[in-house]
Parts: sequence; structure tokens; C-alpha cells
Amino acid sequence: MQSALESALLQLESAVSVLGLDEGLHQLLATPRRSLEVAVPLRRDDGTLEVLQGYRVQHNLSRGPAKGGIRFHPRTDLDEVRALAMWMTWKCALIGIPYGGAKGGVAVDPRRLSRNELERVTRRYASEIMPIIGPEKDIPAPDVGTDEQTMAWIMDTYSIHSGYTVTGVVTGKPVSLGGSQGRAGATSRGVMYAAFSALREAGVDHRRVRVAVQGFGKVGGLAAQYLHDAGCCVVAVSDVGGGIYNPRGLDPAALLKHLRSGAETVVGYPGTDTVTNSELLELDVDVLVPAALEGVLHEGNAAAVRARFVVEGANGPTTPDADKILEDRGVVVVPDILANSGGVAVSYFEWVQDLQAYFWSEDEVNDRLKALMESSYAEVSQLAADKGLSLRTAAQVIGVGRVADAHRTRGLYP
Ligand code: NAD
Repeated sequence: MQSALESALLQLESAVSVLGLDEGLHQLLATPRRSLEVAVPLRRDDGTLEVLQGYRVQHNLSRGPAKGGIRFHPRTDLDEVRALAMWMTWKCALIGIPYGGAKGGVAVDPRRLSRNELERVTRRYASEIMPIIGPEKDIPAPDVGTDEQTMAWIMDTYSIHSGYTVTGVVTGKPVSLGGSQGRAGATSRGVMYAAFSALREAGVDHRRVRVAVQGFGKVGGLAAQYLHDAGCCVVAVSDVGGGIYNPRGLDPAALLKHLRSGAETVVGYPGTDTVTNSELLELDVDVLVPAALEGVLHEGNAAAVRARFVVEGANGPTTPDADKILEDRGVVVVPDILANSGGVAVSYFEWVQDLQAYFWSEDEVNDRLKALMESSYAEVSQLAADKGLSLRTAAQVIGVGRVADAHRTRGLYP
């Protein structure tokens, strides 16, 4: 199976070939600007010492400060972080916000740490990457396994070392600490707008579609809820523990409440059948939203996908091999850098609000998000139609093209 980094590099190659960029510029765009690897020593609650591995990669800074999430996951490694950072570069350029791309991570399973241990890991990791982050340098945000509490600890650690409060160093913070209204649901809301744009274009009424969502986390949980509230029938969802299915539909809000009250997984929720994560991808639905990890749709299962629309809530869920199979079968894939860009869009709004110390209403945030998602979708779809490209290649061509332009215009130092 193609790794995340192999996928990202192959996708870049396709965009480079459509754009006709020379090999030197191709190499520049394929190479991360900075990769920082740090040791994160953790004193466990029982007094023992463990050393974790942490990363922060700034893929590209040509259009502005770097931007991208921080992931706490046991399988995170430098290559995965490099791929995720590259996708952030194209995503920010595609939706026209003035950032480069970055990503960070710690190879740890947050579920096996106590809250105090998590706080110590976060603060130590934040102080190790502090030389390269900052509101004008690189602005982290939540990703898999991290949340607004993680961001509050990073903001506090950075501020204590700086000697004053620096809210703009991270986004996805609690609203009480300079976070933005609407940020918590922004990625999911964006996924919904992307899905609706694709359905509308194909002449499909969204109130008649059945949806399966893989990964009932921050992105997938609220995406399922928003899609349900808008009239779609969400028939299956999953998390790391497995999936649940009810052909008559699930109630995502009730399921989220069930998890908030202490359930560890969606599996076993009353009135549902259990399915595996792989079975969920092959269910008879109209829209599939992969919203967990990379590489879940690959050469081995793409032919079995029955959905007509794949809307990528996750980053990199479809490998290039799977992309080819899905495209040949006429499945519309709304690519990650477009479909899940609502998160970084509202992170940008949060950063702007922090820098101005002037905050917007939730309606204003949501209206601007909707407008940005719809115009970005329209731009990608137009280019795809004009040049006979898939939505993925069209989105990459726009994103990569803007970054290539920035490099050409700035010139090479020295
Ligand atoms: P999260 O940690 O809140 O949720 C991840 C979900 O995936 C959880 O339900 C978890 O149980 C499930 N999961 C983990 N491993 C799994 C596995 N092996 N099989 C099936 N399910 C598994 O993370 P999130 O922030 O919702 O991120 C999900 C995806 O969306 C990632 O690809 C992330 O990069 C991407 N993304 C997140 C944001 C954001 O704002 N949080 C923005 C853009 C893209």
C-alpha cells in the first residue's frame, strides 16, 4: 500500500506535470523547508521515565507563516508528518489564505495517559518546538488525538516563556482564551458544504442520500451531526473500536451525548448492528466520508466502494492507486485539501481575530466559511471541467501553482 508520503509526492508529480514546472522547482516543492525531531521525556504518574518522539515539519513558508495541526498518535512518524505538512501547504494556497504548510506530532497513544501526563507531554513538546513556532512563524492547531485543551496548554507554555500572553500562537483554542466562535465545528461544516456542492452539481437532492462516516471524532462526529440535521440519512459511523450500522438511520447528536457521558466507543450503541471499519467503507451508501486516518481507501478495496461520492474529511484517506480505480468507476472524490479546508479557514479567522483583538459573531464566522468553501469548490470544479482533470488534480494544480508562483516571484536567495 502507498504510504502517506508516497501518495503526497505522487499527487504533487501529477500537478507539476499539468503545470509544466521544471525539475528544480519540482524538487523545491517536494522538499520540506524545515524538519525538527525532538525527544519528549515524560515522567509517568508512577515515577518512571519514558522518552517519546516528537516532530514539527514546516513544509513551505513562501506565502506566509506555516500552519498545521499537531497529532498525538502511536503510529505518527517523520514521513507521515512530512506528508501532512505538504498537504497543508497546498490547502492554504488553494483556499487563498496567507499561510504555508506545517504539521507536528508526538508518537504516543493519548488514551493510555492520565490528564496530568498529557499536560506534561504537551508542555514539554511545546517548549521543544518553541524556537520555530510563533504567531508570525508557525501556528499549530488540533489534529488527531489533540483538542482545545491541548492548544490552551501550548498557548500557556509559549506565553509563560515569552513573558506575556500570546493568543495568536495556536488556533483551535477555547473561546475563553481567544478562540473563535465556530472553530470547533468548522472542519465538519466545511465537509458538509463540500458534499452539498458535489451533490448539487450532480443533480442529487441531499435529503435523499445515505451517508457513512468513518472516524466519529472531532471532524467525523460533527460532520455526521450536521449532515443529519440538514436532512441526510446517516446510516453508519465508526471509531478506532469499530463501527455501527442502522439502515433506517442513526441520531449522531444522541450518539455524541452517549460518548460524552463516558462510553469509549460507538460500538454497542443500542439499536445498531456492529460493522468493522473496513466493512463500513463498502456499505451501500451514496456518500462516504472517511474522517479518520490516511490510506484507508487503497488498491485492495477501492473497487468494492459502493458510494458515488467520497468526501474526504481526513487528510490523505485515498491512495493514488485507489484514486485511479474510483475515477474509472465514475466515483466523485472531493479531495481532502478542498473538503476539509474549513478547519484551517476558521483557524485563519481565529488568528486574524487574535491579532486584532477584535472578535466576530458565530454567524459572521459561519457565513464567511460557507462563502469560502463554495467559491473554492466552484474554482476547483471549473478547472476540472475545463482541463478534463479529477477534482483532486484540479485542486492540487491550483494550490501547487500558487506556491510555485510565490517562489518564482520571490526569487531564490542568495
Ligand atoms: P480525532 O482524534 O478527533 O478523531 C479521529 C477519529 O478516528 C476517532 O473517532 C478515532 O477513534 C478514529 N480512529 C483512529 N484510528 C482509527 C482507525 N485505525 N480506524 C478507524 N478509526 C480510527 O481527530 P480529528 O481531528 O477528527 O481528525 C480526523 C481526520 O481529519 C485526520 O485525518 C485529520 O488530519 C483530519 N483533519 C482534522 C481537522 C481538524 O480541524 N481537527 C482539520 C482538517 C483535517
